[in-house]
Amino acid sequence: MKKILSAILASAMICASALAFGACSGGSSSDKASDATGSAASTADSSTAEGKELHMATNAAFEPYEFVEGGKVVGIDAEIAEAICGKLGYKLVIDDMDFDAIITAVTSGKADFGMAGMTITDERKQSVDFTDPYTNAVQVIIVNEKDSVVAKADDLAGKTIGVQMGTTGDIYVSDVEGAKVERFNKGADAVLALTQGKVDAVVIDNQPAKAFVAQNPGTKILDDPFENEEYAICLKKGSELTAKFNDALKELKTDGTIDTIIKKYISE
Ligand code: GLN
Repeated sequence: MKKILSAILASAMICASALAFGACSGGSSSDKASDATGSAASTADSSTAEGKELHMATNAAFEPYEFVEGGKVVGIDAEIAEAICGKLGYKLVIDDMDFDAIITAVTSGKADFGMAGMTITDERKQSVDFTDPYTNAVQVIIVNEKDSVVAKADDLAGKTIGVQMGTTGDIYVSDVEGAKVERFNKGADAVLALTQGKVDAVVIDNQPAKAFVAQNPGTKILDDPFENEEYAICLKKGSELTAKFNDALKELKTDGTIDTIIKKYISE
């Protein structure tokens, strides 16, 4: 049952000049905006970026990567995005939407980039470019502590499994023999269905899984991990921003900023 995603390889993006970011319409609702702080710095030629906004499409129901706190989208992705935009001299605006709307927002130019604990996959690469990965993740299985019919990955065959729609969890589970897949807009709703006995297990990314289990006593994460993956930022195909984002990410990895941000939200 376990298979290694062939899509994990991060490719070095060589981006043609496409001016994609200049055409950002900012058409989506940006009720939860987050200001990028920091000044234009060494990374890229920020002279043209002064005062401009970059819209980030996300799904802010994915703690610790993006979630709403005090009316604001916070989390690892929000902070890394702020750091990148700060380096490149842009003001960050975060647009919250369903996860499966993010790639369309990016390809249509409604958003300049998507960042949502998003795994690099070959299929997504057909529609968007990805930056280099900024962190790793693993798909895990959440079950009820009591009387679970699922105790390991192989037990998923033939069971009813909850997932967040359009995620890699959805894709993997759809391959499980005889499984009935129940798709939810939010991971939290999938876990709620588990506690109500409507699904036998939920397959979702490990860090949000920990947050969901903490919020739902009586659930637990199985030791048997399901898939390893890498998260990256997606941008419109050919966007000249991709190379700039990669340069900024490299600097933020080297100077320890990414590590510091991740450690702020993930304790172990
Ligand atoms: N990492 C998973 C994916 O990319 C889930 C992301 C999410 O639900 N925000 O599909």
